[in-house]
Amino acid sequence: MFDAGRIAAFSHQETPFYFYDITLLQETLDTAKRAADEYNFRVHYALKANFNDRVLHAVCRTGFGADCVSGNEVKKAVEIGFKPSEIVFAGVGKSDKEITYALDQNIFAFNVESVQELRIIDAIAGDRGKKANVALRINPNVDAQTHHYITTGLDENKFGIAQWELGEAIETLRQCRHIELIGIHFHVGSQITDLNVFKSLCIKVNELNNWFDERGFRLHVLNVGGGLGVDYHQPDATPIPDFRAYFAIFANFLERKPGQEVHFELGRALVSQSGSLISRVLYVKNGIKKNFLILDAGMTELMRPALYQAYHQIERLGQIETASEPIHYDVVGPICESSDCFGKEVLLPKSERGDLIAIRTTGAYGEVMASRYNLRNEIRYVYSDEI
Ligand SMILES: *Cc1c(COP(=O)(O)O)cnc(C)c1O
Repeated sequence: MFDAGRIAAFSHQETPFYFYDITLLQETLDTAKRAADEYNFRVHYALKANFNDRVLHAVCRTGFGADCVSGNEVKKAVEIGFKPSEIVFAGVGKSDKEITYALDQNIFAFNVESVQELRIIDAIAGDRGKKANVALRINPNVDAQTHHYITTGLDENKFGIAQWELGEAIETLRQCRHIELIGIHFHVGSQITDLNVFKSLCIKVNELNNWFDERGFRLHVLNVGGGLGVDYHQPDATPIPDFRAYFAIFANFLERKPGQEVHFELGRALVSQSGSLISRVLYVKNGIKKNFLILDAGMTELMRPALYQAYHQIERLGQIETASEPIHYDVVGPICESSDCFGKEVLLPKSERGDLIAIRTTGAYGEVMASRYNLRNEIRYVYSDEI
């Protein structure tokens, strides 16, 4: 549980900073691991959600593999201690250098996103006397029912190989002597809260699994990606996502052939609720139509609201004077952009310069998206067991 009292007790900390609740993080990871183990499902953690060292060490120790989307993420995963045999590498634009590095690390598989990429990996593997394991990332045209900026599995998206290209893909695979097709891969989007989306995905995966089987390809791995959403509106009511219900969908609807493994790539669901961005009120501007709380954190520390119009719960920490009525504030950052706004008309206790504000559910796609725009300071972070 988010411990507002504890944070307030450490209010001497320089703000802004990310606060990571290490206990909740570990509980979340353990819950997910137990739920996956029930069906022998393998989970690769998507590093891009949060690659903070403590987070990665916890994920690694719990026994998850790693899902990387850049050569540097592969490098980071190896450095943290993830076994190369449990690292997968996705991304529409892998450079030759990144492919070479990952090959040299003997990673488990490349999730390949185009026919041309198959040829390139084949050539590089040939040059290095290696054989590359690949899974084809197929675009299943399943609507994730989420914000269009985090939808990835529709025909109009840049990700994966379209179904009409599969004939060409298997022809290419038959010619590639330095590639081994081990499976098929999907990732239809992020922050998916309607579990029916995953049911639709299972049906598509079954069709394609049969399609490959009929053509003589024995797939070892069905990788269904990530995307499970979290409760941004009620972080304390749902601190841990319902991993059991999520994995049960795949257990019930995915038709595994003998010996086939099912792999997942969860990011957000494993780390979001463990992080909060802690900030301080710099100024209060009361207008005729609007009241503004101007924070010392902005879109440079947390980009999701500006980038995807994402909602985050905003709370004022510390003593609340019960005598005064709550006030509607537009909670904004100091950056010179109008999109630098964390929430409009947010109902908060009457606030003053110096008050601490928590922006919740920011453990995923928060710290990792921080930028130096406006020449801002490097983002700071604090772990719950350090304070
Ligand atoms: C981002 C990403 C994930 C993780 O998505 P979440 O919504 O954070 O679970 C998994 N797989 C791939 C290929 C990704 O790009």
